[in-house]
Amino acid sequence: MRESIRTLLGDITQIRADAIVNAANPSLLGGGGVDGAIHRRAGPALLAECRTLHGCKTGSAKITKGYSLPAKYVLHTPGPVWHGGGHGEEAMLASCYRSCLELALSHDCRTVAFPSISTGVYRFPLDRAAPIAVGAVRGFLASHPAAFDEILFVCFDEKTKHAYDMALDHR
Ligand code: ADP
Repeated sequence: MRESIRTLLGDITQIRADAIVNAANPSLLGGGGVDGAIHRRAGPALLAECRTLHGCKTGSAKITKGYSLPAKYVLHTPGPVWHGGGHGEEAMLASCYRSCLELALSHDCRTVAFPSISTGVYRFPLDRAAPIAVGAVRGFLASHPAAFDEILFVCFDEKTKHAYDMALDHR
């Protein structure tokens, strides 16, 4: 059984979910990659709200409205920068997924879309990140049955989608 977790090849800024996740940096003041794409599509009001949040710790999450995005909310979570794996990177990455789902739950979000947190500029190896992401989401769903309708992993390229598909197939 695949639960209600799905992978999708595409651009997360196009997804009409209750919440999409932004792989942010701790300043929450915008950046490149998916962060830049989300801010561009949401419009300047997103940055204005982010300025009121005073940053966010790696592994935690903060919520804003989605503004011009099709999604109602954005969950901003700074993933860990990969420094070789001996600096708590794996635990911090799992914490990003759990923190976002906690926040989604407390805002009555039934559908949540994640990008592949940390596997871009932050260089977290994809083959390690995907099973951590899937394991963290599955663990959360197991302890919160019926909390969500669907969790999406929105993958920006084939290689990323393949890694998440593999992780979903292996228990
Ligand atoms: P990080 O700094 O956490 O590594 P990046 O934005 O550099 O974040 O990369 C995270 C992942 O998001 C990468 O797989 C990248 O290809 C992907 N990505 C970039 N733009 C988008 C987008 N518009 N929608 C979904 N994923 C995206």
